[in-house]
Amino acid sequence: MIQKNLIAIKEQIQEKSKEPIQLIAVSKTVDVDKIEEAVLAGHFAFGENRVQELVRKHAYFDANKEIEWHLIGHLQTNKVKQVIDKVSLIHSLDRISLAEEIEKQASKIGKIIPCLIELNIGEEESKFGLKKEELENFLSEIAKYPHILVKGLMTVAPYSNNGEEVRWVFREMKEIFEKLKKRNEDKISMEILSMGMSNDFLIAIEEGATMVRVGTSIFGKRDYTK
Ligand SMILES: *Cc1c(COP(=O)(O)O)cnc(C)c1O
Repeated sequence: MIQKNLIAIKEQIQEKSKEPIQLIAVSKTVDVDKIEEAVLAGHFAFGENRVQELVRKHAYFDANKEIEWHLIGHLQTNKVKQVIDKVSLIHSLDRISLAEEIEKQASKIGKIIPCLIELNIGEEESKFGLKKEELENFLSEIAKYPHILVKGLMTVAPYSNNGEEVRWVFREMKEIFEKLKKRNEDKISMEILSMGMSNDFLIAIEEGATMVRVGTSIFGKRDYTK
């Protein structure tokens, strides 16, 4: 089933875009045997939103160096230390205190950590992420940290059954992304625009996503009771 879902989604993505789009299979709450199935089907990029779960799954698949773990959820400062050597990309950089801690832990292990800046375009109270007005200041602060490499932007659009309703969010993200890209600064390489989930990834791609994060459509409905 998982293999079939992955193939179907990859086909849908290819139909939408000539450019390569990275698919992150969001495996939060999903058992390792299902992740294994995805790996056997040739998929290697997974997204988790909880540090503890990421650390556990990383250890389980330790022998497979092809697998990448993406931290896509809110990252508490006191948990940075646990994931710093395990993540391929942090999607949720959204405050200076977090950047400081990533810098500190990354410098200890001598690694540069690729990060995306999370924006809250819908300006929903319940969501994490910077407001777009805060981005400029944030970027100039971030430039001080040699162990953080900003690779792009990420957003979680407001929840909607109808992706059309959040198209404007993706469009605004793309505009901001392109503006920053044109500036061509050393410390910010705008390569990745991470947006779109099961409900709206095709619309996100139409609006310029380079990376989509899809969970439910690959692994089925999540069971939060476990
Ligand atoms: C859960 C989650 C997703 C995937 O959501 P689906 O609707 O299951 O595809 C994507 N991004 C983030 C940040 C998430 O927390």
